[in-house]
Amino acid sequence: MHTIGLLDCNNFFVSCERLFRPDLLHRPVVVLSSNDGCVIARSNEAKALGIPMGIPYFHVKDICATEKIVVFSSNGALYRDISRRVMHIVAALGTQYEVYSIDEAFFTVPTDVCTKTLVRRIRDTVWTAVGVPVSIGIASTKTIAKYANTMAKNADDIGVLDDAAWYVAMSSCSCGALWGGGGRTAATLRTHGIHTAADIQQRGIGTMRVVLGIIGERLYLELTGSVVDPVGAPHEDIEQQSVTSSRSFAQVTTKRSELRSAVGYHTVRLAEKMRARGKVAGKVLVRITPGRHDREYDAVYAASALMAYATNDTRNLLKTALALCAEVYTPGVRYKKRVSP
Ligand SMILES: [Mg+2]
Repeated sequence: MHTIGLLDCNNFFVSCERLFRPDLLHRPVVVLSSNDGCVIARSNEAKALGIPMGIPYFHVKDICATEKIVVFSSNGALYRDISRRVMHIVAALGTQYEVYSIDEAFFTVPTDVCTKTLVRRIRDTVWTAVGVPVSIGIASTKTIAKYANTMAKNADDIGVLDDAAWYVAMSSCSCGALWGGGGRTAATLRTHGIHTAADIQQRGIGTMRVVLGIIGERLYLELTGSVVDPVGAPHEDIEQQSVTSSRSFAQVTTKRSELRSAVGYHTVRLAEKMRARGKVAGKVLVRITPGRHDREYDAVYAASALMAYATNDTRNLLKTALALCAEVYTPGVRYKKRVSP
């Protein structure tokens, strides 16, 4: 059985900008979405100042000025170029690999090498050859590797969870921190008294199937070390037939312009994801969820449209997604969250 690694570039867009501005290395930096609408990347220093991900820029404009946070407009062409250079290094490993998003790639670890030495070498090679910091998580499945990667960000950017270490970590790994375990999935699990990865393991595959269907079954298997989703396998299963990008607003909003820029941002990310995976979309769905207090509103939460032809072209998808956004938007409703699969 192969071990699986996940390489993730740290604060990727910020790291790309810093390549040409080394003077910004220890200073707070944020990058805004293409229309300067929302914050889409933050340096650790900006995170420490409390700048939330996805927040509309005008909400934090004053803090940015007083705290001397350096603000960049996004530069997609640059980020894609840097991404390609990072991915070449992963490809050079000569094992199976899979570009998962602009700044993430899964790879299989060769069996004949020392994992920790290899991982350090990859991290240091990307740093010297490209100049962006990366963190790497290693485990027996993608789902555990993803968790190992988030753990890595608090260490020296390397997180290796072998079976024994994972067994110990499981009881402190909340379901919400798991890949695909966020939002509604975690809420459903909570209502069944399942709070951690250890709970999932203890309840067993039967319970997980009842609670979450095929997704629960897959989650159980991946968390107990059975590879359901191998690196580089064609994405033909039900989950992978759709791509989703979603994030809650830091505060509720009633503004059409904020929703538009948020939907725009997610659409751009999704188009990138689909191009990276060689996928096209035949249908676009926009869902905007009101905050808890406005759920009783007689509002439309979601709308979808079939594309004239399947595409991964950002402009076409954007046009459709923004039209759907206008359809879903109800003035006066305080929106908390939107999703655009
Ligand atoms: Mg990243």
